[in-house]
Amino acid sequence: MAYDYDLFVIGAGSGGVRASRLVAGMGKKVAIAEESRVGGTCVIRGCVPKKFLVYASEFSHAFEDAKGYGWSADNVSFDWKTLITNKNKEIDRLNGIYQKLLDNSDIKTFHDRAVFKDKHTVHLVNEGKDVTAEKILIAVGGYPWTDQSIEGHDLGITSDDALDLPELPKSIVIAGGGYIALEFAFIFAGLGSDVTLVYRGENVLRGFDADVQKQVHQELENKGVRVLTKTIFTRIEEKTSLKHVHLNSGETLKAEQVMWAVGRRPSTSGLRLREAGVETKENGAIIVDDWHQSSQESIFAIGDVTDRINLTPVAIREGISFAQTHFNDNAQKMSYDCVPAAVFTQPPVGVVGMTEAEAKEKVGKVDVYKTDFRPMKNILADNPERMLMKLIVDPKTDRVLGCHLVGHEVPEMIQMLAIPIKHGITKAEFDATCALHPTAAEEIVTLSKS
Ligand code: NDP
Repeated sequence: MAYDYDLFVIGAGSGGVRASRLVAGMGKKVAIAEESRVGGTCVIRGCVPKKFLVYASEFSHAFEDAKGYGWSADNVSFDWKTLITNKNKEIDRLNGIYQKLLDNSDIKTFHDRAVFKDKHTVHLVNEGKDVTAEKILIAVGGYPWTDQSIEGHDLGITSDDALDLPELPKSIVIAGGGYIALEFAFIFAGLGSDVTLVYRGENVLRGFDADVQKQVHQELENKGVRVLTKTIFTRIEEKTSLKHVHLNSGETLKAEQVMWAVGRRPSTSGLRLREAGVETKENGAIIVDDWHQSSQESIFAIGDVTDRINLTPVAIREGISFAQTHFNDNAQKMSYDCVPAAVFTQPPVGVVGMTEAEAKEKVGKVDVYKTDFRPMKNILADNPERMLMKLIVDPKTDRVLGCHLVGHEVPEMIQMLAIPIKHGITKAEFDATCALHPTAAEEIVTLSKS
């Protein structure tokens, strides 16, 4: 049977665009559907705009630090509208670049919602037409979830809205203790909002190393964020332009904005996956094998919609693995080992490999090398912010199993450290590397056992 396309991709985010361009480059006929803006979560409403807000927020600390170095930086002011306008200009530019990349690769873009009709057919909702393809790739990502069982839940914004608020809120209550909750708590606190973080657990950043959790919690408090743990929202109501957030502790918080940052879910509802015979997990994530193939042989999925490791570079690599395996006769299995991650808190977190707890569970006894110090830059600034560096080592092989950093510019460091750590570097090899002085990073080659 002749199909309209060799590959039809649903979702033009980081993963979908990479996969479609690679496959088109192999001489195949490719089309892509995007119902929102080309670029996806990362470019339009995630990593990129978020990082601009982080940069904006960090200036407030830089102005404070500058005083210890002789600058007077007392009468500075901040304009939220300028930030959002400039951020949007850059997002528009990137959106244009992504569209050009697709056009230049001869990929047909449908600015439309695609839903399944059968295992080789999608229906374009606005155009009202059907398109067929030999293979279909689902790369629709996820959406910010909100707890709809809470009365007044719709009074709360999500990260999508937080990136485009008309005004900087004077006060905000944020639910959650993960990546998004913490990044936005620091963003708003740095920009001058009064921030309360409401987290249902005991230690924020669940799944991260315990020392990282402790350090970040401390920094939240140092930056003026009120952190309520073991606490959840029970009801939200609006009174005299303030939102009243009722908590299970009995307390009621009043704030201009309330934000949900309680996780993201795969955007699969409404795709009519059942008509195509595609199975999902309970949370909507598409079940795929090591080669990104779903329960239906002609349908594949990559990125956050599969809920494996929900990070942009992972989706991109999954796109490469999919294209090479299914269109180039060059099976490339995606490696999920030692994927570095950063949380853009202030200071940020950078991690790669196992936490101390995971390593103990996996290899038994581990050696821990750790330091916690005030970096040189913070001394004259009289800034109490500290830096954490921690290496987890397998004593049997001397292999470094994990690295956990908190401090200025650590996402830049962890990207570099991820290379040797993924490829099996030993602690002795760290020690045999000369330090570079004076830097904060030099401490990583002089760590002794704690
Ligand atoms: P996370 O999974 O990181 O955090 C969700 C938080 O919400 C957790 O603290 C969780 O608590 C809490 N929570 C979940 N359900 C409820 C509920 N019903 N009531 C109250 N609290 C609840 O999700 P995010 O939305 O922050 O981020 C989604 C994903 O996006 C991340 O996991 C990451 O993969 C990616 N991301 C990456 C970034 C980066 O690379 N810097 C930045 C932003 C997002 P508990 O801990 O108890 O489960």
